Amino acid sequence: MQPSTESTAKPPASSNKAVAAAFIGRVALSSAAVDCIYFLFFLAIGSPLLAWMNVVSVAMYLAAYQLVQRRRLHFAVLLIWLEAFPHAAIGTLMLGWESGFHYLLLMFIPSVAMTSSRRALQVFLIALLSFLGALDTISRMWGPLAPIPEASLIILKWLNISLFVVMFSMLASYYRHKITKAEQRLKILASLDALTGLHNRRYFESVVEQHIAQLRRNVSHSAVVVADVDLFKNINDTFGHEAGDQVLISISRLFKKELREVDAVARWGGEEFIFLMQETQLADAMAVTERIRCAIEESAVSHQGKEIRCTVSFGVTQLLPGDTLGDAFARADLALYRSKAEGRNRVSNHIVHV
Ligand code: GH3
Ligand code: MG
Ligand code: MG
Repeated sequence: MQPSTESTAKPPASSNKAVAAAFIGRVALSSAAVDCIYFLFFLAIGSPLLAWMNVVSVAMYLAAYQLVQRRRLHFAVLLIWLEAFPHAAIGTLMLGWESGFHYLLLMFIPSVAMTSSRRALQVFLIALLSFLGALDTISRMWGPLAPIPEASLIILKWLNISLFVVMFSMLASYYRHKITKAEQRLKILASLDALTGLHNRRYFESVVEQHIAQLRRNVSHSAVVVADVDLFKNINDTFGHEAGDQVLISISRLFKKELREVDAVARWGGEEFIFLMQETQLADAMAVTERIRCAIEESAVSHQGKEIRCTVSFGVTQLLPGDTLGDAFARADLALYRSKAEGRNRVSNHIVHV
């Protein structure tokens, strides 16, 4: 048996970062593309100063994209903020509140809400409202510094509103994707045993329930096997609890290796395990279980320079039509009890004559 401390129940942090990077990269590139459109728009309406200001914006977004590629996500986000707020302020002061540049700042609300504490969100909302209020007041007091024709202003306002709507829905999809992923991860974690990485009892019960429902339709043979590590308390007492954990992990790996993909295996609790062998006659289930028993007997776990050997007792029964998991478990447990009573390290069955 090869000990391992590896846990299969770790959340994939790196894949989270990859999803965030892909999203921020998309935001940076889309914003750069929109600023290229602004560049052409301002050139077309004869405002070269405003056009060239957008070139600076494009450069900043491309720099943010480069930072994303190097996984400097915080700097990339900072650069996006540094572009968006001055852009909205300068655009509003030059062209007036009607230009709609301030809409773009509203996009930061969901990202702050999703990534920061409630307190930080409150501070941000107050700062944003103050910023927008001041911008509105000043732009009305001064009037547009570089006015453009009314028709162009309306086009620009709708460009900004459209951009806000598109970006906002991109953000919403991104967060929905994150929530779905988190739910999937939680579901997987809830089905696993934290120590061994095998499925847990709750998940096993749901698998067997489904299997029993199918059995009602197709007559097939399945076997339920319960396993209990022999004199496991002695292992803990002699080598320590951590060594006991390593033994449980090694046994679990061996079960996984020896059983087929279609067979369900779970940690029932403590040093007890359970298998459901689908489409398997009792004699075949006995033979497979005997092979597993021998493999455990012949293997050893090395822990802190010491070699730990252990054995496992098994009880096997056939899953019968009309059985609940409880019925099959009770028979397998009786068989296991016989294995223990007859000296442990053996496989016994419980045959029901129907
Ligand atoms: P038997 O052959 O009759 O099954 O004897 P046993 O010593 O295996 O049975 P007993 O029920 O007396 O002891 C089971 C021990 O398993 C006691 C408990 O502390 C230990 N155990 C249960 N869960 C874990 C665990 O997750 N890690 C470790 N290291 N020990 C555990
Ligand atoms: Mg036990
Ligand atoms: Mg035991």
